[in-house]
Amino acid sequence: MTFLNDLWASFQIFAGNFTDRYGLWVNGLLLLLVLAAVGLFLWRSIRLGRRVRHTEAHLNLPEPSKTQSEEWCRRLSQAVSFPTVTGDKEAMSRFRSWLKESFPLVFSRLRVLPCPGDGLLLQWRCPEKGEKGPVLLCAHMDVVPAEGQNWTHPPFEGEIKEETVYGRGALDCKGTLCGILQAVEELLRDGFTPGRDVYLAFGCDEETGGAEGAAHIAKQLKMRGLHFDLILDEGTPISTAHLGKENFPAALLGVAEKGQATFRLTARQKAGHAAMPPQHTAVGYLSEAICRIESAPLHKRLLPVMQQCLLLSAPAMGSLQRAMVANLPFTRPLLFRGTRHNLQLSALFHSTFAATCLEGGSAPNVLPETASALVNARILQGDTGEKLLEYLRSLLDDLPVTVEMVSCQDPSAITDTAGMGYQLVKGAVEETFGRLPCIPTIMPAGTDTKHYQELSHHIIRFIPLAVSDATLGAVHGPDEHLPCRSYTAGVIFYENLLKKL
Ligand SMILES: [Zn+2]
Repeated sequence: MTFLNDLWASFQIFAGNFTDRYGLWVNGLLLLLVLAAVGLFLWRSIRLGRRVRHTEAHLNLPEPSKTQSEEWCRRLSQAVSFPTVTGDKEAMSRFRSWLKESFPLVFSRLRVLPCPGDGLLLQWRCPEKGEKGPVLLCAHMDVVPAEGQNWTHPPFEGEIKEETVYGRGALDCKGTLCGILQAVEELLRDGFTPGRDVYLAFGCDEETGGAEGAAHIAKQLKMRGLHFDLILDEGTPISTAHLGKENFPAALLGVAEKGQATFRLTARQKAGHAAMPPQHTAVGYLSEAICRIESAPLHKRLLPVMQQCLLLSAPAMGSLQRAMVANLPFTRPLLFRGTRHNLQLSALFHSTFAATCLEGGSAPNVLPETASALVNARILQGDTGEKLLEYLRSLLDDLPVTVEMVSCQDPSAITDTAGMGYQLVKGAVEETFGRLPCIPTIMPAGTDTKHYQELSHHIIRFIPLAVSDATLGAVHGPDEHLPCRSYTAGVIFYENLLKKL
């Protein structure tokens, strides 16, 4: 309504102008400007529409021989049958022994570098000393628990049904782990040697932050003075229907990941009897603080990499959304409004806060002296934990609520899409999967690469496994699975990537 009122008021000024001196000129100029803006808007929309029509997106899943395909998938299903839930040392040790037996060439020809903790670090030397920097391929061996979830397939038996491997870790992250090892095993069997040094790093506790695995591995690599031309870790996948558009598959390459921090809010009030309460209790103040944080989300920003992501995703959009994207950055506010219900996408436009754990009184008739809450923040590039702490403190400064930062991992750097690392991965995607668009994006969740930040300027978080939204949605949930065809094509991707180095 306000908008319509403002429009009407502007129109009245405009109409009144005609009678003024120079009014006709001013109005003519205004009209011209409006027409030029509309023309530009339409022209940019049409130009993007034309480009979209010429964008080819086909997902071609290469297939190995039938025997190879069966052998590779059986091996993945065996990997899934180990319940390597983070912290289960016994299962992890059995799994590591199984890896050595199942990929004998990898473990006999590559050097297993000593590393504290349960992580694995292997080195595949290039026979010639060349100019090229080394490459690091990563995955993790641990999985999240499956208890308390409604599985229709057993989570740790590695069941293969309808050419799909079911079980915890099939996609996150044993598909990637076995994919890398299987590719190296095949190449070694063919007598292949890499064109530069290749390191393989497999963490043992990625799901709880990587302190025991990736952190130790990173230290070892730093001690050796290594700097990588590419670090490729798990991340965003190949979507068979990007943004839900059936005939638009795309490889999403995570060029950055958001940081995260946890803040503790503590509200304080006098303890006492609940029969004689003050107007606001500690719980009341805490609730007010949480409501305030929820109703004052941080301003949205469009990072250049997200603009690139949206432009390349345009073929998957409807014409209205596409027109908005074509006219970025001018249409930014409209875009933010239009995507506010898409939680996955809107999380990539700003740092977010979510209250997760609460603690308050211990009895129904006792006023607690303190009430506290944990607020989990996901930090977008450009913000830091310290900045968010300052923001929360200023937002709540008139309440008897203190804010402290419990933990913080600042956001990663953004890998340049024109750089060598991105281009290497893009080249291998195109060689393996045909005319598949590569789209850079930001990972809303974390990976082991947070420990590898200083080791390379070219870090890509990507799993070369083609999955539907339903398959992706089962990660960390019940009935996690991976179609065998996606997996075997993934192995071929790693082979192609290694051959290109
Ligand atoms: Zn993972």
